[in-house]
Amino acid sequence: MRLLISAFLLCFASLLVAQQTEVVDFLKVEAVLIPNVSESSIEGSVRYTFKVLQETDSLYLDAKNMKVLANPSHVKTVASTDRIWLLGDFTKGKEYTAAFTYKAFPRQTLYFVGEQLWTQGQGKYTSHWLPSIDDMNDKIEFDLTLASPKNKTVIANGVLKQTYSENELTYWQWDMQQPMSSYLVAFAIGPFKKREIKSKSSIPIALYISEGDTAKWEPTYRYSKEIFNFLEAEIGVPYPWQNYKQVPVKDFLYAGMENTTATFFSEAFVVDSIAFNDRNYINVNAHELAHQWFGNLVTETEGTHHWLHEGFATYYALLAEKEIFGDAYYYWKLYQSAEQLKAMSDDGKGESLLDPKASSLTFYEKGAWALHMLKEIIGKRQFQQAVKNYLTKYAFKNVTTDNFLDEVKAVTAVDISQWEKDWLQQTAFKAAQAYESLKKNDAMLHFFEVTSLRDAPFAEKKVALSQALQSDNEYVGQEVVYQLANESVSEALLLYQKALQSDNLYIRQAVALTMEEIPPSLQASFENLLNDPSYSTQEAALYRLWSAVPERRAFYLDTMKGVLGFQDRNVRQLWLALALLTEGYQEANKRNFLEELKGYTAPEFAFEVRERAFGYVYELGLFDEDTLEHLVNASVHHNWRFRNSARSILKEVLRDPVLKAKITGMWDFFSEAEKKSVQSLEKAE
Ligand SMILES: [Zn+2]
Repeated sequence: MRLLISAFLLCFASLLVAQQTEVVDFLKVEAVLIPNVSESSIEGSVRYTFKVLQETDSLYLDAKNMKVLANPSHVKTVASTDRIWLLGDFTKGKEYTAAFTYKAFPRQTLYFVGEQLWTQGQGKYTSHWLPSIDDMNDKIEFDLTLASPKNKTVIANGVLKQTYSENELTYWQWDMQQPMSSYLVAFAIGPFKKREIKSKSSIPIALYISEGDTAKWEPTYRYSKEIFNFLEAEIGVPYPWQNYKQVPVKDFLYAGMENTTATFFSEAFVVDSIAFNDRNYINVNAHELAHQWFGNLVTETEGTHHWLHEGFATYYALLAEKEIFGDAYYYWKLYQSAEQLKAMSDDGKGESLLDPKASSLTFYEKGAWALHMLKEIIGKRQFQQAVKNYLTKYAFKNVTTDNFLDEVKAVTAVDISQWEKDWLQQTAFKAAQAYESLKKNDAMLHFFEVTSLRDAPFAEKKVALSQALQSDNEYVGQEVVYQLANESVSEALLLYQKALQSDNLYIRQAVALTMEEIPPSLQASFENLLNDPSYSTQEAALYRLWSAVPERRAFYLDTMKGVLGFQDRNVRQLWLALALLTEGYQEANKRNFLEELKGYTAPEFAFEVRERAFGYVYELGLFDEDTLEHLVNASVHHNWRFRNSARSILKEVLRDPVLKAKITGMWDFFSEAEKKSVQSLEKAE
């Protein structure tokens, strides 16, 4: 039977080498979904409406490792490992519905993280938890209903129509009115609280936050309304969806994801007013919102045109930041990406914007540069008109680069063929053109004047650097401080003093981050940095002062007691490590300090907290059975960045016979995945 079915399926597969979008158009998915946290599974009752474009006897939905539980409809279903086939005599031009129930144990795309669960479709395939269409070219209206425990909040695409209770569960029924590609379908469930604001155009904007973080609401979402109003006006096409929602989720895979009407973003951007100064959500906020037009409303036909998503979202986020922080900030960020792109290009690793395998740096930053240059060449008004026409013409459709270029050519007589060669096709980064453009900004000009002094003898540039420190542009001031790092502190003393007394937080921060030794005459000013409204500055200042002035260690620790820092608790964890290392400091509490620091490696903490804690536990040689168990667990985490950092520490740990014996002693407690992870590292030896 098994063999027969697979032979049967192979036969369909060969018939359907042609794209299925030519055979069928899926119009609507109505899904009632019940996630099961205890076994990390999901069950769904789904109904598909589709229009047949070419006569056929079989169609498929992408569905990874799903089991069809029941099928009450006339359309028969057969599940293979990655598809659910719909079988029948389908007539061209006719609409059909198929309905069935299914169950899946998603290995990716749906993540159960402590109190939360959330999805990530792009790059991970929604078809791991919902039978859908991996091909971005079939846009479907998705109406999800999700069941959750009573005390949780559910967020999904579209508008919440109603909630109702059944069997101890609350069902949240969401409604979309427009179609989208399957990778944009999403839901999140967790102990979230909601605040609602409205855009100038009356679009409801819901700002969610975890129960425990409500004190950080305002700084986390600062400028949200301004960003929305700005982008809607700048893009020139009304926001295309019913509402907009944003929610920070734990252990997210990326900075943010633009699910249609429901952006999910990393909890690392949940900030208080101090953390706001270094790690705010503004750029990601604007970037994901811009995708609601660029990516969600008009969607690439294939990876070759990926810059139509990321280049545009990056560029419009920059424009929003320019609106908030001013021109100098905008050019500064372009300068920073130009430096990275130039370095990549000089290495012979430059990439064409139309290379579907290009890196993020190319899709995002080179894409933004291409648009910045295009606007300079054709003019702002023409640029805006072209974008507006492009979005209007292809709304809810799929697009290619040529579709955009045709709209550009329709509004300008300027020949853009050289721009196409330089910025779309060329692999090298056109640095000379880029730097010419940057020089149009006075702040950048001033900055370049100061950078031109980098190799000059200190005596010759001292006066110029001193003047530059008075600039109200922080990038110029920071550049001065970085140049001081190459000089002897005694020579540069007066300039350091001036930098430490600067009104600008980021200039003072540059001193905290770069100054290795602290001369007695600067000690008092340096100590003031412990109170600066920046957790980066506080962390650096605490470490440098503790190292440089041993006799005042207890005073510094007392001063910084109770400060947590960023979401990863950077200040607190450093404090605990230093407190443990300070002889005679609160000896009676040291046991608690030790337990707290080791405790941060546990899975109940966000991976950013754990990553930092593993670093300290490793550096201080504190690994014991609990922390080793947490480390092995971290080595199979769904976030690849965290997983890799845990694996590199685990690899070192396995070289130590005592620690290795401890891991072997706990072997039976590990899951199969954890065992495999340890074994693969042992093999790599
Ligand atoms: Zn993006």
